[in-house]
This record gives sequence, C-alpha cells and structure tokens, in this order.
Amino acid sequence: MGWVLLAGILVGAVINRLGTDLPARRLPQRPHCPYCGRRRPLYQWIALLAFLTRQQHCPSCDAPIPLRYPLVELGLAFLYGFLYQRYGFTSQFFFLALYTTVFMLIAITDLERRLILNVVTLPAMALAIVGSFFTDHVTWKSALLGGVVGYIFFMAAALLGNWLVGPGALGGGDVKLAAFIGLVTGFPNVIVALLLAILAGGVTSLFLLLSRLRSLRDPVPYGPFLIIGGWITMVWGAELARWFFRLG
Ligand SMILES: [Zn+2]
Repeated sequence: MGWVLLAGILVGAVINRLGTDLPARRLPQRPHCPYCGRRRPLYQWIALLAFLTRQQHCPSCDAPIPLRYPLVELGLAFLYGFLYQRYGFTSQFFFLALYTTVFMLIAITDLERRLILNVVTLPAMALAIVGSFFTDHVTWKSALLGGVVGYIFFMAAALLGNWLVGPGALGGGDVKLAAFIGLVTGFPNVIVALLLAILAGGVTSLFLLLSRLRSLRDPVPYGPFLIIGGWITMVWGAELARWFFRLG
C-alpha cells in the first residue's frame, strides 16, 4: 500500500505542474515560484513534504506554495489508495488510477481557468478505448456506445444551454469530457453518470443562486460535476445502474 500512496503523491506533483503549464500553452517547466519566478529548491518539489516540514514559503519572496498543490498530491494518494484497496494490483486498478489522474488534471484547469483542454481530453479518449480491453466493468462495445451517447447528449445540452442562458454556459471542452466519461463508464451506465452530474450541478447552482453568491449570468464551471458523476459511476456503476433503472 505504501508505494501506491507514494505514487499518488509523485503523480500529483506532476499533475500540479501540468495543471499550471498546459493552460498557459507552454511545455511543463521545472517547479518555480509563480510570484517571483525563482526556481523552487528540491525540498519543495513535493508540496506536501514542504507543507509538513513547514518549508512552504519561497526562500526569495516568502510567498507560500498555493494550497492547491499539497491538496492535489494528498487527494490523488487517497484515491489511488482507495482503488488499490478495492481492486488490488490488477489492470483494473491501473486503468482506473490513470482515469482518476486525468479527472484530477481536468478538474484543476476547469476550476482555475475555466478550460478543458484538447491536449488532455483527446489522448484521454484514446486511453479509455485501449483501457476498455483491459477492464472488467466495460466491453469495448459498451465503451464506444457510451462515448457516443455522452458526446451527443452533452452537445445537445450545450446547444440548449447556450440558447437559454447565452454562450459559454457549456463549452466544447465539456462535450469532450462527457465523451471521455462515456468511454470510461460505458453504456448504459453513462446515463447514470450524466444524471448524477446534472443533479450535483443543479443542486449546487440552485444553492449559489439562492444564497446570491452567483447570478444566472456567471455560470458555474460544469466540468467538476461531470467528473464527480463520472468517477462515482466508474467505481460503483453496476450497483448504481441496478438501483437507478429499477426505480426508473
Ligand atoms: Zn518567490
């Protein structure tokens, strides 16, 4: 288990760099302070370690490492650990951990920059097609059908949303993310994933509107809700589908 947690922390450190550099349209750079530009010393490359040893401040300008960095490392370690606990050392674990990593990266860029990048989603879709041959919860046919359904469903939602609340409510990035989630969860479970996403997004938006934290005109990024719905369905899809479709 120890090496799984360590892998989560190390991959988290890489995902942190990608989450910062890819939206800025540049190749991943060596860790550096975003405020003064100075290269981070080696002991700060893993943000979690820097925070735990209370060395999270830049030695030259004293700005702290943003909290997102240790949280992403900790989050991935926790999720990898959970998947390992559930699936053991199997190809199922390996691919679900890869998908989880992709989800984490997309969540970062969408929350911070409102961007879901093709350079992430397109390779992720190819990965999910390969993965459908090595995982037990989908067949390649159900994966492909799920991808198509996710794509069409969200394309329709994007067109409708833009017509109702104006352009930008949902973008092309959300549509490709929905296709990726369809490939990962397969058909018919993709429907469960999208319903969960709509439910989570709807409840949160309603709460933000009612508490006047946001107006209808500044839409909430939708990617994180898709990711939550997709991840939950990826792991508990069979149980959820049984419950969902019997109810419906
Ligand atoms: Zn600095």
